[in-house]
Amino acid sequence: HYLQKIESNKHLNAFVEVYGEEAKMAAMAVDEKITSGKAGKLAGLVLGLKDVLSYQGHGVQAGSKILEGYQAPYTATAVQRLLDEDAIVIGRQNCDEFAMGSSNENSSFGPVLNAADVTKVPGGSSGGSAVAVQAGMCHASLGSDTGGSVRQPAAFCGVVGVKPSYGRVSRYGLIAYASSFDCIGPITKSVEDAALILEIMAGADDFDSTVSEKPVPAYTSALNWTGKARIGYIQEAIESEAISYEIRQQTIEVLNRLRAEGHEVEPVKISLLDSLLPTYYILTTAEASSNLSRFDGVRYGYRSPESKDLESMYKKTRTEAFGDEVRRRILLGTFVLSANYYDAYYTKAQRVRRLVREETDKFFKQFDFLISPVTPTTAFTIGEKTEDPLQMYLADIFTVQANVVGNPAVSIPNGLDDNGMPIGIQIMAPYFGEEKMLAFTSYLT
Ligand code: GLN
Repeated sequence: HYLQKIESNKHLNAFVEVYGEEAKMAAMAVDEKITSGKAGKLAGLVLGLKDVLSYQGHGVQAGSKILEGYQAPYTATAVQRLLDEDAIVIGRQNCDEFAMGSSNENSSFGPVLNAADVTKVPGGSSGGSAVAVQAGMCHASLGSDTGGSVRQPAAFCGVVGVKPSYGRVSRYGLIAYASSFDCIGPITKSVEDAALILEIMAGADDFDSTVSEKPVPAYTSALNWTGKARIGYIQEAIESEAISYEIRQQTIEVLNRLRAEGHEVEPVKISLLDSLLPTYYILTTAEASSNLSRFDGVRYGYRSPESKDLESMYKKTRTEAFGDEVRRRILLGTFVLSANYYDAYYTKAQRVRRLVREETDKFFKQFDFLISPVTPTTAFTIGEKTEDPLQMYLADIFTVQANVVGNPAVSIPNGLDDNGMPIGIQIMAPYFGEEKMLAFTSYLT
């Protein structure tokens, strides 16, 4: 069924590789396990992987020419845990190069199209993963979220996307973009599915020392919210003309409904809202410039055929095989880390990061959840923002806070705009507050 769906939706360009025969064999093996009563918790779940997740013996390229021909020598912990519960991996999915982007237009495999309207972007960077779920090409996808890359495409495509707390899910086997921000998260049709996947893949891992030893709650058994919640919402987000009218209206409707149901709903000001994007883009480009230095033409994938000596190999390989956005960020990151500017940019951004964390912690002493739109607009037209990176970065205004501070956040569908394009709403919770976040989200849907 899913293979047929992938075939009939080929024009959306969501998958870069489909494991057809292999997936059928895996499905048959799972079927036998089901008959003999030995099936795992995910038996029958057909899963797609964003092209940044390692799956042993399979290609993985982060949407980049620089990893052409590279095969993963091991499997990411998150993926392995799902396989151990009998999930079936159907293929790898298109994404922005090295997960840098908000529209999936930065992939060496070409853009992904939104299934609701093929002239619109699917969001990014996990665009292929969101469209695959939107168009029913797989049951669920795994994406990665560094500044919104799971939640924003989920919002643009009308599906559910969860970014767990930093340190909840192992990053082992995830191709790094900005290591202190990167999180692996599920994209699904329902909150229940996301909770199940998260509960299986989360938890301590010997291969990633940044993962918490905290036990993983049974999220799926806790999906019944009772009682009253204290909810803060970003006042600017429902007042500012910069946010589309329909998104503001739909958000207000949810807040009104919650108020009517007896929850405490209060407007708040995030005083550092204007500093979030600069902080995010300074720190992530700094980390990216360092993470991506390993792609030198020696160790992985592509090497320029024009190389004459070591230096020209580095230069030509990296110039030929990195796309514009990746090069822009390596330059930016190298600049903010350079001796003369380090204190003015990098150190300062680290300080602001701490302030944002303090402000967020303070907020969560008073409230259970922070509600906001996921994005200022619905999916925009392909090509509309490619000439103007700053416009593109502004699309991340509501999603980056969760990554700057490490808190969990979820994006769920919240109706459609007048053109039939999906709108999303975001619920952010305290650090390691996934259990109540998912329970409340399931109550909301
Ligand atoms: N759009 C953001 C960026 O370009 C987020 C990317 C992500 O979460 N991987 O950095």
